[in-house]
Amino acid sequence: MKDSIIRALGYDGQLRVSAVVTTELCEELRKRHDTFPVATAALGRAVSATLLLSWGLKGEGMITLRILGDGPLGGIIVTANADGEAKGYVQEPHVDLPLNEQGKLDVGGAVGKGDLYISKDIGLGEPYTGSVPLVSGEIGEDVAEYLMQSEQTPSLVAVGVLVNPDYSVAASGGIILQLMPNADEEIVQEIAAGLKGVQAVSTLLNMGFDAKGLIEHYLPNTKVNILEEKPVMFKCSCSREKISGALKSVGIEELEDMINKDGKAEVSCHFCNEKYEFTKEELLDLIAEIKADQANEK
Ligand SMILES: [Zn+2]
Repeated sequence: MKDSIIRALGYDGQLRVSAVVTTELCEELRKRHDTFPVATAALGRAVSATLLLSWGLKGEGMITLRILGDGPLGGIIVTANADGEAKGYVQEPHVDLPLNEQGKLDVGGAVGKGDLYISKDIGLGEPYTGSVPLVSGEIGEDVAEYLMQSEQTPSLVAVGVLVNPDYSVAASGGIILQLMPNADEEIVQEIAAGLKGVQAVSTLLNMGFDAKGLIEHYLPNTKVNILEEKPVMFKCSCSREKISGALKSVGIEELEDMINKDGKAEVSCHFCNEKYEFTKEELLDLIAEIKADQANEK
């Protein structure tokens, strides 16, 4: 099954729902960053949540989710754009923790206490950034809390990742339900009744459910109106040119230091772990460019 996202409305537009499958995306991130299972689960949940929140992005629009906890994972940073392209990383990919009391990967323990930040640039200029203290560090609940506090939207956010014994990703995805301001009390009750006995997202995906199947499982009592279905995928926008720019910004002294110490520089992109090597000659060229830029400014 290919990774994809669906956006839909239920209950005559009184409920907004979106479901996403990110199994391949999460496996790509795992391979690139060599994440251990609990880090894979945290990163996969964060990627699914970010894509679910990307509703309404246009053009160059972009959403960034940052989870900064005091647990062993350090920070988690994920971004997604209007085209369904996402990337992300955790600061410490090699975290290994015992399973939690429910026998699940202890994402909350790995994340710890801290805050969740979301910046959303819907493609119309200034990005908006909001934050909320983490509720549990399990990510789904934390994002739901964010939506309640900063957008006053009651939401259910379920994100999950199932990791195989060989550490590869068996299933990853999520679903979000959001009540619109005009929702009647009766419908709220009906939705709640439908949610009794729902299975975990990762279990359903592992059984072969797709994004549409997730929505039908979570909303058995309404006919949903699908607005959009599109693929989602891993993509990083880094390039040699951008990394050169970053290297130039560290300044002549630092660059000279690299030449003297290592005779070259190796820089890797945080988001995709791609390595870029710069030879001594290339570093000297960068220094020459900085000097030329400075001369032009005078
Ligand atoms: Zn990259």
